[in-house]
Amino acid sequence: MAVSTDRLVVIGGDAAGLSAAAQARRLRPAEDLEIVVLEQGPEISYSACGIPYWIGGQVPDRDALLARTPAQFEADDITVHTHVRAEEIDLSAGEVRASDGRRFGYDDLMVATGGRPFRPRVPGLDAEGVFGVHRLADGADIRAAIAAGARRAVVLGGGYIGLEMAEVLQARGLSVTVVLADPLPMAQLDRDMAERVCKAMGDIGIDVQPEQPVREIETGADGVVRAVRTDAGSYDADLVVLGLGMGPETELAREAGLQIGVTGGIDVAHTQRSRSHPEVFAAGDCAQTFHRITGEAAHVALGTHANKQGRVAGSVIGRRPARFAGVLGTAATKVGDLEIARTGLCTTQAEEAGFDHRSETIEATTRAGYYPGAEAIAVKLITERGSGLLIGAQLVGGPGSAKRIDVLATAIWAGMTAEELAGSDLSYAPPFSPTYDPVAVAARVSSRIETG
Ligand SMILES: Cc1cc2nc3c(=O)[nH]c(=O)nc-3n(C[C@H](O)[C@H](O)[C@H](O)COP(=O)(O)OP(=O)(O)OC[C@H]3O[C@@H](n4cnc5c(N)ncnc54)[C@H](O)[C@@H]3O)c2cc1C
Repeated sequence: MAVSTDRLVVIGGDAAGLSAAAQARRLRPAEDLEIVVLEQGPEISYSACGIPYWIGGQVPDRDALLARTPAQFEADDITVHTHVRAEEIDLSAGEVRASDGRRFGYDDLMVATGGRPFRPRVPGLDAEGVFGVHRLADGADIRAAIAAGARRAVVLGGGYIGLEMAEVLQARGLSVTVVLADPLPMAQLDRDMAERVCKAMGDIGIDVQPEQPVREIETGADGVVRAVRTDAGSYDADLVVLGLGMGPETELAREAGLQIGVTGGIDVAHTQRSRSHPEVFAAGDCAQTFHRITGEAAHVALGTHANKQGRVAGSVIGRRPARFAGVLGTAATKVGDLEIARTGLCTTQAEEAGFDHRSETIEATTRAGYYPGAEAIAVKLITERGSGLLIGAQLVGGPGSAKRIDVLATAIWAGMTAEELAGSDLSYAPPFSPTYDPVAVAARVSSRIETG
């Protein structure tokens, strides 16, 4: 008796889509599940996160940003079609229409179309010399512009992509202006912590222009970018980089009739199944998720979530129960030698979520004060008043600061109080921390306020 093979079609060949494909394959052999991946671009399995560092030259080789090739997936019986765009999903027929005219029927469909960079609606945005930082081709274009002699860069936006681009362009010898609509960079931080970031940017020679929404990208007679104009001034530019954040790419899903959530991402349950069409899964930047502390819908475009959510979808498709456990928005970045990290709720988010909260900021050093290389670090903890429960944390400091956020994210994840964290067995040796790690000091100060 012939046994029929199911087919999983995956739209999008990067973090979320390929994590799902790989996990489904681990759990179901090719005789049971055929897996087909459609990717509109020329490559798959690339690290967008590494693009700034390829532009900056810290990563000299573009191919180092490619984790796996289509041939490696083929060896696992996962068929990858590059340069093939999914043009339409027919949910009633269970079929995807592709740009090469083929139709791919599916039993399970994985939508992993990623994010879409925010583009302000201003004149000149499509001019030559204006670049996004999304795909490897963008990195190649920016590198080419620098090689062709670009000397002045304007970065629009001060989120982590804006900061990373400002840093690497400056390291490549360009003069860099960061134009912000907000009063400070890093809107994910509280004001006092973002001020430290802003100051550090100025200290290394990055010109920060706050509270100036861009009005126009000015071009020369040749149509090439010349300057960025705001209400307060005009900033000369040979190249302009868009670093204004990422929304979900859901055009295909919307047109098909998949339910879209309040954040604009595809509405999925904890299993990553579409709430409107259970045979469809979505994960990564195109999908809505939920905040672990508030339980509210969230859209946080990070590779760390895309990989995990894709794996959850792949497990469920592979018939192993799995659930995504939510996000805290844990993220880290750097500008110059300053490391920046955050997790959980900032004070504005805590207020919006209705938490009676308090916050404490301590200053310490990254290593024992007498040990070479000890640098300043500030740690801010946000706790629930009364219970002392940790609900948010932010760090800004010298080398060695950022990854300390993982201790705090783990403590929040585990539902620990500041007092419990203060009493935890954290390591100490002079090259790595003072006797009490700054994280422990911050926890102790926060818990003293609760417990006296
Ligand atoms: C410059 C930069 C730096 C970053 N740094 C970090 C970091 O340090 N840490 C972190 O956690 N995250 C970081 N991120 C975010 C991270 O890269 C993304 O969250 C992650 O790539 C999302 O994975 P994804 O699979 O959901 O989407 P994507 O990686 O965007 O992949 C989606 C894929 O789907 C394809 N696609 C879309 N529509 C179709 C269609 N109709 N048919 C066929 N194919 C289609 C696209 O071509 C794309 O290849 C960074 C992002 C950028 C841009």
